Amino acid sequence: MAEETIFSKIIRQEIPTELLYQDELVTAFRDISPRAPSHILIVPNILIPTINDVESEHELTLGRMVVVAKKLAVEEGIADDGYRLIFNCNQHGGQEVYHIHMHLLGGKPLGPMLAV
Ligand code: 5GP
Repeated sequence: MAEETIFSKIIRQEIPTELLYQDELVTAFRDISPRAPSHILIVPNILIPTINDVESEHELTLGRMVVVAKKLAVEEGIADDGYRLIFNCNQHGGQEVYHIHMHLLGGKPLGPMLAV
């Protein structure tokens, strides 16, 4: 059984966080340490620690995450200029919170995909 993270408490609204979106599958809220003018995290309501733990039964949830990202990008006014969606996985991916989350980043030119 994977250990819960702070994101489970946010999803259950046990700690004060402004939710931008929530339904039966996913929740979205602003990143506490934004790396861009718009930096939103979209997470599944169930705990999936890493992308390595994704199974076919999660396909609906993962699809919903993308649909919600698109909707929030419109609401943030960043859809036309563009934005980036990121999943980090494990150590080399730079994952810090072991409850999968999609980063939605935009509001300025984001530069190259990777610093090399
Ligand atoms: P990762 O590096 O795992 O892909 O990203 C984790 C993200 O979660 C980071 O961008 C970090 O700022 C954000 N984060 C960590 N703890 C909290 C929190 O308690 N609240 C919110 N809103 N974001 C958090």
